[in-house]
Amino acid sequence: MEKHEVRPLVQATLEKLLGPNNVVVEIQWKSRFTARAGDATYKLRPCPHGVIRLSLPIWELADDSERYQTVVHETCHVVQMYLHKPGEWSGGPHGYKWQQLMRKCGVKPERCHKVNTAPLKRRRQGEKFVIKCGCREHTLGVIQTQWVKEGKKRYRCRLCGQELKYENISQKLLVG
Ligand SMILES: [Zn+2]
Ligand SMILES: [Zn+2]
Repeated sequence: MEKHEVRPLVQATLEKLLGPNNVVVEIQWKSRFTARAGDATYKLRPCPHGVIRLSLPIWELADDSERYQTVVHETCHVVQMYLHKPGEWSGGPHGYKWQQLMRKCGVKPERCHKVNTAPLKRRRQGEKFVIKCGCREHTLGVIQTQWVKEGKKRYRCRLCGQELKYENISQKLLVG
């Protein structure tokens, strides 16, 4: 699932929960947002609309199903706020009303995402990895190294054509 697929999924989720509707949702990408995968609000002014904010760094680390769940999770918050006042949520933002919406979408009503965000913490400390190919050494950031480890991305040396493999890490560098 890619970033441009978020909007269609929000629309489809709104339809599933509300039927034909004209709920407006603004989607914002936050590059400095790492405490949560996303959050949602429903603003009444200047005109009623939902706002879903998504963490770009966590999105990049998440797999397809984690991305899907995050978008549905936040859309359910918007629908909850659109349909009910906070006093009617029965159990807070992740209470019974929200859980019901999540189940209707076929998604387990879990409060927290399960994306492994450890690489983000290490990135803040400026860690890098040195990976050897057939001819020289390449330096990769923590996130890229994580991608290599999980097979989400492949990097090839442009000189020798060898793929950079996690097993070939020769050292860790701490920079900055
Ligand atoms: Zn939530
Ligand atoms: Zn090489």
